[in-house]
Amino acid sequence: MDDGFDYDDIRGSVEKHLAKDNLGWIQIVTECFEDIKARCDNEEKTYPSVSQIKQKYGALRIYLGCAIEDPFIQSSLEEAVRKADRSCKRCGNVSRPQCIGFWYANLCCWHAHEAAVERLKKFPEAGLNLRSKSAALQCRSCGYLGQIAWGVSGHRCPACVSKGW
Ligand SMILES: [Zn+2]
Ligand SMILES: [Zn+2]
Repeated sequence: MDDGFDYDDIRGSVEKHLAKDNLGWIQIVTECFEDIKARCDNEEKTYPSVSQIKQKYGALRIYLGCAIEDPFIQSSLEEAVRKADRSCKRCGNVSRPQCIGFWYANLCCWHAHEAAVERLKKFPEAGLNLRSKSAALQCRSCGYLGQIAWGVSGHRCPACVSKGW
């Protein structure tokens, strides 16, 4: 894969690093680098080179090829990482990192189900976030951590409610 990052095609470059279906995070990182590009244009500085943008343990990591001294650029990057920490990487819905088997990913309940069906042979019996202890915010059917549909459904995530699990 070509790791080149082209400031004339920021979105396309971000897609190459994060994979095309991660639309939620692609949007966050694209906006971040558009801000950085505008900042560099205004200040007549060269664009910082990007070596890698990826997910690690459910968190967004952005690695640049150089040290950044501009506080605006630093805070733009930190803000993108914070936003990604609260957003499904697939769709941008509010979410938090989930443990799917031995794999961590920040996914909303819908996309966590999709990933779990692919990765766990016995989902939902196998369950998500098996080591988690914050049961108050955990779906009683699938183990999803985060959004719970309170009410008659009895403490389940919206995806389990809609599937009748
Ligand atoms: Zn999602
Ligand atoms: Zn659930």
